[in-house]
Amino acid sequence: MLLTLRTTHVPATDLGFLLHKHPDRVQTFELPFGAAHVFYPEATETACTAALLLDVDPVGLVRGAGGTIDQYVNDRPYVASSFLAVAIARVLGTALGGRCERMPELAASPLPLEARIAALPCRGGEGLLRRLFEPLGYTVHADLHPLDPAFPAWGASRYFTVTLRATCRLSDLLAHLYVLVPVLDDDKHYWVGDPEVEKLVRHGEGWLGTHPERETITRRYLRHQRGLMREAMARLATEGESQPEETARIRDAEEAILERPLRLHDQRLDLVAGVLHESGARRVADLGCGDGKLLKRLLADPQFTAIVGMDVDSRSLAIARERLDLDRLPPRQRERIQLLHGSLLYRDRRLAGYDAAAVVEVVEHLDPPRLAAFERTVFEFARPGTVVLTTPNRDYNVRWPSLPAGRFRHRDHRFEWTRGEFHVWAVGVAAQFGYHVRFQPVGEEDPEVGAPTQMGIFSR
Ligand code: SAH
Repeated sequence: MLLTLRTTHVPATDLGFLLHKHPDRVQTFELPFGAAHVFYPEATETACTAALLLDVDPVGLVRGAGGTIDQYVNDRPYVASSFLAVAIARVLGTALGGRCERMPELAASPLPLEARIAALPCRGGEGLLRRLFEPLGYTVHADLHPLDPAFPAWGASRYFTVTLRATCRLSDLLAHLYVLVPVLDDDKHYWVGDPEVEKLVRHGEGWLGTHPERETITRRYLRHQRGLMREAMARLATEGESQPEETARIRDAEEAILERPLRLHDQRLDLVAGVLHESGARRVADLGCGDGKLLKRLLADPQFTAIVGMDVDSRSLAIARERLDLDRLPPRQRERIQLLHGSLLYRDRRLAGYDAAAVVEVVEHLDPPRLAAFERTVFEFARPGTVVLTTPNRDYNVRWPSLPAGRFRHRDHRFEWTRGEFHVWAVGVAAQFGYHVRFQPVGEEDPEVGAPTQMGIFSR
């Protein structure tokens, strides 16, 4: 994954000061998902190009925490996505913040700039790409890549090589990329929660509040979570209050702390997909599938011949349909997967006959008096051979630096169980319905409070 930034401002090598990276050196930075290299293919008085090359570790991505998933092929290491946004924040954070001790006036000045992204996935096509960047003053050049040059009949991919040109501040260009690249990709490699609203409002300062596509940007940036969107839109509407330097610094620190554990959701899904695989299941159900992230992993594993995703929220299912590209899958793939609208609180004959089911981060969304109905739907009526169920470990909440004591991780959670409470519940359910259960931690285990997520694997 390659991003280049070029200027023809004279002397062009000042770009090195602005980026805090010397044009004569190649520098490498270790990131949680791989390495970022910064180097300058061109550095003269009249033109200077800095390259940010991301070397995402594909094996690390599939292994996650537990190392239990089989290899699967995906585009993540090779295309511009939220990984690039994180790299911009980590590696070019000073420039993104508009700070430059050596040349503060240059950092504050519009410069002739060109950004080139080698492979940018654009969900929404060139039209959306232009609607996002052109109102910000960029000249946009986009080359669409075919799915496979050897087979033109297969049509176009969703990958573009994109060049953006404008005379603007470097910090603005970086902020636009930081926000809009993941928006075009319409995916994120980490769990999206309240801190994302902060980031969006901070990096959107001065441009997002008045952007004609602000709703699409906000919706996609916040992964279609309506609660977060409402909050962000309200904050953007009152934008303009200046943000004191001190708060900005504290927020930077918070973000750094929070970003570390954010791969948790990916780890969790990788692990669940691995456990389902190892159970030998061929027909699998994802109950409370949300926007289909686990389904996507299941679809990539040919062991699973029939996959069903069920959720009570039809909007989530619509997003899942888009994420999985259901309408464009070849027929043989399309036949393997089915999305169902339904509730886990009611017996549903469509869920019978599956070898295994996943219930990932769903129980804590149910009202406690309805748990018994859920238990019967899953363990008595659907009755798959294996049930893999995850839920937050409340004991771990003291380790989330930003979580006030006694609060849940998510505003929709009706409860969160300690390890003790989860064990009592799971053992009781297993005994009642004729399963046995074993437990596995998800995420890095803390010696005192355990892992952030707990998993119960029920089998008959
Ligand atoms: N399993 C997904 C989504 C977790 S969020 C993931 O890990 O990414 C919880 C999901 O449970 C939401 O999509 C919500 O719509 C769904 N849900 C809540 N109550 C439900 C019910 N009664 N029946 C089915 N799904 C439900």
